[in-house]
Amino acid sequence: MCEAVLDESITGRAKRAGHIDIRYHHIRYYSEDKHRRTDDSPYGGGSGMVMQAEPLAACLDAVLATFDTRPRVIYLSPQGQVLTQKKVVALSKLSGIILVCGHYEGVDQRFLDTYIDEELSIGDYVLTGGEIAAMVVTDAVARLCDGVLRDTSSYTEESHYNGLLEHPHYTRPAIWRGMAVPEVLLNGHHAHIEAWRRQKSLENTYYKRPDLLENAPLTEADHQYLAELRSKDGKESQALGYAEQDLST
Ligand code: SAM
Repeated sequence: MCEAVLDESITGRAKRAGHIDIRYHHIRYYSEDKHRRTDDSPYGGGSGMVMQAEPLAACLDAVLATFDTRPRVIYLSPQGQVLTQKKVVALSKLSGIILVCGHYEGVDQRFLDTYIDEELSIGDYVLTGGEIAAMVVTDAVARLCDGVLRDTSSYTEESHYNGLLEHPHYTRPAIWRGMAVPEVLLNGHHAHIEAWRRQKSLENTYYKRPDLLENAPLTEADHQYLAELRSKDGKESQALGYAEQDLST
């Protein structure tokens, strides 16, 4: 399942070029059961099945043995810390990570207690298995690894990297269905384009995710522009209320 997705497109090309190394391990192959079962019913009763500790441990031991230094072992779980771009950046600096995917009701707690360094969630909702979450983490981390994207500005200028949402983008044609590309983007004046982009980035964040302004590193000019936006539309949402409070400190 993961191979079908991650071996395609940018991650697939980066893998083939040797910029990243992604390996997939099927826990079922490490089951001693003649039907290669990896789950059993829960002690104490209740619905669903639980992944057994031993096949998971056998698989993880085999994988760990291929590393010189122990990589961070992460269990994808709706109970973990929710993934953010900041966390993605931190993970991209590690030399390796192992992502363990659960299924059914989850995983025998004794396995988690023995092997897992941290639990990571991709959001406050429940998936049927950890594979999609593992692909999300892998994709987000891979694009920050050296050589995967053409240049680092591809991601350092994107939403969430610097605490703000990114500015809007436009491409050819210059006029589409009567709508023109903003003039400033056509005049080739680099400083003007940068200033416009910064303001649009602030606008996007202000209107779509005002909560992010609470922790975004803002300049004096940014504060001034936000004050202009506020007085322009007189917006008084609760989220903005606390953003304002923090901006004043
Ligand atoms: N019974 C578990 C609970 O309530 O915490 C949920 C189990 S879930 C149905 C099955 C597997 O999907 C989990 O073991 C985990 O690996 C994965 N999973 C589900 N939601 C996830 C999320 N939001 N983030 C990361 N992994 C998730």
